[in-house]
Amino acid sequence: MTELNYRPSVSAVRYIPPRSFRPIRFVSAALVGAVLAVAIGWVYVFALAQVDHIVLRMGSTALCGVVLGLLCVKVVRYARVASQPIAALLGCALGAITLYTSWILWMRRIINAILQRRGVHVSPWYLVRHPIELRDMARDVNRFGTWSFGSNIIRGLPLLVVWLIEAILLIATAVYIAVKSAAPSTPLCRECGASCERVRRLPRLAVDRAEDVVAVVEARNFAALAEQEPLLHDDDPELNFYVYACPRCGGTNVLSLQRTAWVIENGQQTVRTKVLVENLLITKEEVEQLRQLGAEFAERKAAASEPSDGLNEPSETRTDAET
Ligand SMILES: [Zn+2]
Repeated sequence: MTELNYRPSVSAVRYIPPRSFRPIRFVSAALVGAVLAVAIGWVYVFALAQVDHIVLRMGSTALCGVVLGLLCVKVVRYARVASQPIAALLGCALGAITLYTSWILWMRRIINAILQRRGVHVSPWYLVRHPIELRDMARDVNRFGTWSFGSNIIRGLPLLVVWLIEAILLIATAVYIAVKSAAPSTPLCRECGASCERVRRLPRLAVDRAEDVVAVVEARNFAALAEQEPLLHDDDPELNFYVYACPRCGGTNVLSLQRTAWVIENGQQTVRTKVLVENLLITKEEVEQLRQLGAEFAERKAAASEPSDGLNEPSETRTDAET
């Protein structure tokens, strides 16, 4: 790989993800989330009581995790959480609340079924205030088995494993969704907060003059790109643009330039990419300029390849620059 000896222009401004985390919003949204997590736990236990098959039960657990994850996404977006650990903690906390709620309601149902004959009734609030008793009851239920699996009484270690799988499935699903939403895969608009969308049909260039292209892009002198050679063969190494633009207000446009090449490694074809320009902020007009260049380059490529099919120079000469 050739060294790139260019000097980045001082005018180049990079995109930095918005990190205006709002602690007060976070605390208030997390509290609302906690209340909703209790409600989800209530619905979850109700749903579990309706289904008997193990697959349906696991499906209910996963679905409950997804609903919790979406709740986390709301909190993360509202409070502009950009930290994955905070999002993960939120997912864990809401998942634990839902799980604990479901435990209390489920245990209450079992206890009341036993105590019904004696005319005694236990309220969920009693179990909230007596966690030690709740734990002892759970231990008893584990020892004698639960009758919620129809005729198959599962008890002891298998039941413990079922409980653990349930807890892990529920919390892991919520945490996964929460963490994903805290680290969006596309840039967020710095003006309006919308997720930027990829701009398609941008120029694809040959790699022969990569240094020139990088210098031109860093200087945002996009008009000079017209002098570059288009990519003539799809399999050749290429320089490609990744531009993400705000679909709502157009206030944020982020450009990256990558070098992509197919290489053979251990007998297998793999794509190698190298970022040459990263997260450069450009204007809406410059995006339009790049789009027009993309159309021009596509035309030039079509014109170059059409009449001389078979007369093309062997591709080795082009790939020589690669090695
Ligand atoms: Zn915007």
